[in-house]
Amino acid sequence: AAILATVLGAGPKTYRADLEQAIDKLLHIELPKVRVFQGASHLALRQLLNVLRLFSPLNRSGSILLARLHEFVNGSSDPLSGAAFEAQVQLQQRMLPKVFKARRYVGCIGSAPVLRGFTCSLWTLFHYLTVQSARSTELPAGYVLATIHGFVSHFFGCTDCVQHFLGMAERRQLFSVAGRDEEILWLWAAHNEVNQRLAGDDTEDPKFPKLQFPALNACASCQLQSATNTTWQRPEVLKFLKGLYDVNNLSNYGLP
Ligand code: FAD
Repeated sequence: AAILATVLGAGPKTYRADLEQAIDKLLHIELPKVRVFQGASHLALRQLLNVLRLFSPLNRSGSILLARLHEFVNGSSDPLSGAAFEAQVQLQQRMLPKVFKARRYVGCIGSAPVLRGFTCSLWTLFHYLTVQSARSTELPAGYVLATIHGFVSHFFGCTDCVQHFLGMAERRQLFSVAGRDEEILWLWAAHNEVNQRLAGDDTEDPKFPKLQFPALNACASCQLQSATNTTWQRPEVLKFLKGLYDVNNLSNYGLP
């Protein structure tokens, strides 16, 4: 209840605890569910670990863990079983000081246990990764979106989400995005499309209604409002997202 009250009272913030929870669930639950990584799904795993190790929001042990897993998968045979990957996660973790310390979601806490949580933390992680990629020249433009596409195609357990996202990726030409800033904005617009579709849905948390993002009170300069419509000011939105999801602005609230 204390976390919920804090989050409801704060403006939009990115919490390290949510990013940690997302990666924790990915490594320990979602990826081990995959029977075998083979061909395109082996590539999707390599890309995911590459992006995570480059832009790790985890503590020092966590960053080492991601680097070692990336190295392991890159050097592994294709096909690689989900069980072999899971065993490697356990083995590497045993050799390192404690990585995952977050006990619960913070920015992604729901007002009921079935609401928000993992999928919220995934969006948060994806936005964070597009923003970190735009701060560096490590990866070519389009790499992070292609990685998200690979994750959704091969590893995302929510069937409805997969179907919708892949349709949207084709319609909005995800693979034609040619700049790193454009990647940030592509994901923002795509997420807003999902927010619009899900507004009023059973899955909506009444305490966190699905509005177009960012709301006017969070970024007044992001929208130009006339009597008849609202126009997004994309350069302002970009600036806002780069601040919100910057690694240097992460909040450690909720972490021991
Ligand atoms: P979320 O939508 O999860 O957003 C998390 C946080 O991101 C918000 O609290 C806010 O701080 C920030 N945010 C919100 N909008 C934006 C934006 N446009 N740009 C940047 N930051 C933003 N659920 C379904 O029922 N059907 C689907 O088809 C579906 N598709 C999905 C596809 C993907 C790729 C993902 C990751 C999730 C999908 N989900 C789907 C889950 C759904 O989108 C929400 O994650 C879930 O309903 C929880 O919503 P939430 O209120 O926590 O906010």
